[in-house]
Amino acid sequence: MTDFVIKQPDIASLPVTGTDAVFPVRRIYCIGRNYAAHTVEMGGDPDREEPFFFQKNADNLDSSGEFPYPPHSSDVHHEVEMAVALGSGGTNIPLGEALDHVFGYGVSIDMTRRDLQGIAKKTGRPWEIGKAFERSAPAAPLHPVSEVGHPDHGRIELKVNGEVRQEGDLDHMIWKVPEMISHLSEYFELAAGDVILSGTPSGVGPVVRGDRVTATIEGLGALEVVVV
Ligand code: MN
Repeated sequence: MTDFVIKQPDIASLPVTGTDAVFPVRRIYCIGRNYAAHTVEMGGDPDREEPFFFQKNADNLDSSGEFPYPPHSSDVHHEVEMAVALGSGGTNIPLGEALDHVFGYGVSIDMTRRDLQGIAKKTGRPWEIGKAFERSAPAAPLHPVSEVGHPDHGRIELKVNGEVRQEGDLDHMIWKVPEMISHLSEYFELAAGDVILSGTPSGVGPVVRGDRVTATIEGLGALEVVVV
């Protein structure tokens, strides 16, 4: 056993349906602009721009059902995304083998301090202040591949107080799950515990305290979050 000179930090984790055991989280990669309609709403050109990746911190994941409105922002946006949890990894993973590395899938939200992200974009600074803040990745329990297979189509939706704000289909992803895994593995060494947030459909918008947010992906159930 390793002795630590300070208290060992908790290992970030996600619940898994059908078991009390949890999925330990190592890294979170998030893909930007992976649905054409969302790329357009963010001022991009879906025909010319390749999707790109940024990261959140593992401990930004949160399954408590509450999202504390973060400080220094007055424009926090919801982005419903499918989380892809890896059970193994590697480098230069061939497209045809990419799905073999997936442990399971779940519903998540890439909460974004849009005002701070906007300043970062304008000034050419990193995005972490807009993306990687406390509890910025609400997430539902993961569904193992053995239970749900590899969802590649189906409705993805987000409601605020019962009103549909975002809707799309997993089939509309510009880069599909195997392509994301294969591409990421060319730049990073992927490993068990890595989670990929696979991008959001159009309709992103602000939440305020008191909002009840319901994110749903066909076959993966729903994630209910109250903004506090
Ligand atoms: Mn996102």
